[in-house]
Amino acid sequence: MAERCDVAVLGGGIAGLTAAALLATEGLEVVLLEAHSQSGGCAGTFRRGPYTFDVGATQVAGFEPGGIHRRLMDHFALALPGASPLDPGCSVWLAGETAPIQLWRDPQRWAAERRRQFPGSEPFWALCAQLHRSSWAFAGRDPVLPPRNPWDWRQLLAALDPGVIASGLFTAASVADLLALCGCGGDGRLRRFLDLQLRLYSQEPAAGTAALYGATVLAMAQEPLGLWHLQGSMQTLSACLEQALAQAGGQLRLRHRVQRLRRGGDGWLVQGTGPAQKPFQLQADQLVCSLPPQLLPELLAEPLPRGYGQRLERFPDPSGALVLYGAVERDRLPAGLGLHAQLEWDDPGSLFVSLSAEGDGRAPVGQATVIASVFTPARPWFGLEESAYQRRKQRALEGMQAGLRQLLGLAPADYRHVELATPRGFAGWTGRPYGFVGGLGQHPSRFGPFGLASRTPLPGLWLCGDAIHPGEGTAGVSLSAFTACRQLRAAQGAELRLRPAETRAAAAGSG
Ligand SMILES: Cc1cc2nc3c(=O)[nH]c(=O)nc-3n(C[C@H](O)[C@H](O)[C@H](O)COP(=O)(O)OP(=O)(O)OC[C@H]3O[C@@H](n4cnc5c(N)ncnc54)[C@H](O)[C@@H]3O)c2cc1C
Repeated sequence: MAERCDVAVLGGGIAGLTAAALLATEGLEVVLLEAHSQSGGCAGTFRRGPYTFDVGATQVAGFEPGGIHRRLMDHFALALPGASPLDPGCSVWLAGETAPIQLWRDPQRWAAERRRQFPGSEPFWALCAQLHRSSWAFAGRDPVLPPRNPWDWRQLLAALDPGVIASGLFTAASVADLLALCGCGGDGRLRRFLDLQLRLYSQEPAAGTAALYGATVLAMAQEPLGLWHLQGSMQTLSACLEQALAQAGGQLRLRHRVQRLRRGGDGWLVQGTGPAQKPFQLQADQLVCSLPPQLLPELLAEPLPRGYGQRLERFPDPSGALVLYGAVERDRLPAGLGLHAQLEWDDPGSLFVSLSAEGDGRAPVGQATVIASVFTPARPWFGLEESAYQRRKQRALEGMQAGLRQLLGLAPADYRHVELATPRGFAGWTGRPYGFVGGLGQHPSRFGPFGLASRTPLPGLWLCGDAIHPGEGTAGVSLSAFTACRQLRAAQGAELRLRPAETRAAAAGSG
């Protein structure tokens, strides 16, 4: 007989950790299965000698009051990991320019920067601010998108207000449509800036990013929201969620790769291999899957319902990523740059650069880690013979180092350490097909009501992660996990609500 639990959660990145911790805190018996020897996935870290590198995510959102990470940690009665707000959130260098556009944390300062950088663009920013305000208030009321049953509809309708209904008119619009509407469609420099910023968060340029999503992304670096740099490493966020899972009695099983999901015995049978390739089986009443949904056809022992399977097949390929992990003496870096920068760059593509701060635990005193990432089509990196792969990799590394020379003045000899991860490396690290990162992108045709739901047509199977609304980023995937857990609990006749810290403390005291 297979071992049993109430819920098996598949994948221990931020989405799976959040789901597992939430459901264990509800009193359910939860087992979290993670293929890797550590949790965190794309928001994990690795060590090389004295350096700690953040694998993917390097900055976090959702730490402000009302932000999802803050709400979760209050609910778990845990402190947020140590973090400092980023100011500027990013310095954006357009090709051929000698000074950056800086995304200041103070909204007034950012407004002044915008007026200086993009004269005449205020109507566009004002419209974005209005859309953002209503979308953010809507998101704060925990709507369920896209709705798939009467309970989902009730949550959605309860979160609506006249402002949200008015901004709903823009549901099918792109950020480029907003530019045109505000008479800014001809501002090529603004368009290049927006393309760079939006690609980071939505995988799409202004013409392919849903207006309602773009409006929020463009307000992300400013108070009352903001971006944060974690003390120690990104792994501290996973460590907090692991702690929440453990304190609620849930189990994290590392080195457990899920290979087959079968329906039966009033639930699901999960099969896979554990440490030393030893097979395991786990019977669970419910499954929460944080793996990319493109993996479902291969994991499920039965065919997916036809329409659903076809929909998954038709999703376009997400991006892959090239990531350079380097370390240099801190005095080689220019002063006053901030910790994050973007550089418009041709070959192999525009760079997003993250530096460690002195004393933040990532590099010895007097040194800094330098991480640069570029989006790249993922499939061409596979099926190459080894020498062709190595040549391609070397060329990409040289192209990225040339970009870093332009941005930071770093010569190849300045690196005390340098290595490059390609989509092959991401496929190995995260188990994602072709090393795809970033979910389905935020094109208007796949955003909000048109996105992939956490509720699936298969009973007892729930999805979360960066392919599920509201999408990519540690804050986005935690929100998707929260929605999936609320739905799961509602199906059991219970209500999952995030409690503020004081309420939990009082409940613990009286219980
Ligand atoms: C280069 C890059 C830069 C980024 N920068 C930022 C940033 O600055 N800020 C930000 O917020 N976000 C950023 N992101 C996005 C963010 O990292 C992701 O959206 C988020 O971490 C995804 O979390 P997830 O839990 O959905 O998926 P993953 O992190 O992919 O987690 C899935 C987990 O499932 C495990 N797994 C896979 N297959 C199996 C299997 N068969 N059985 C068991 N376990 C399995 C994997 O090992 C992994 O741990 C970045 C991403 C990348 C790639």
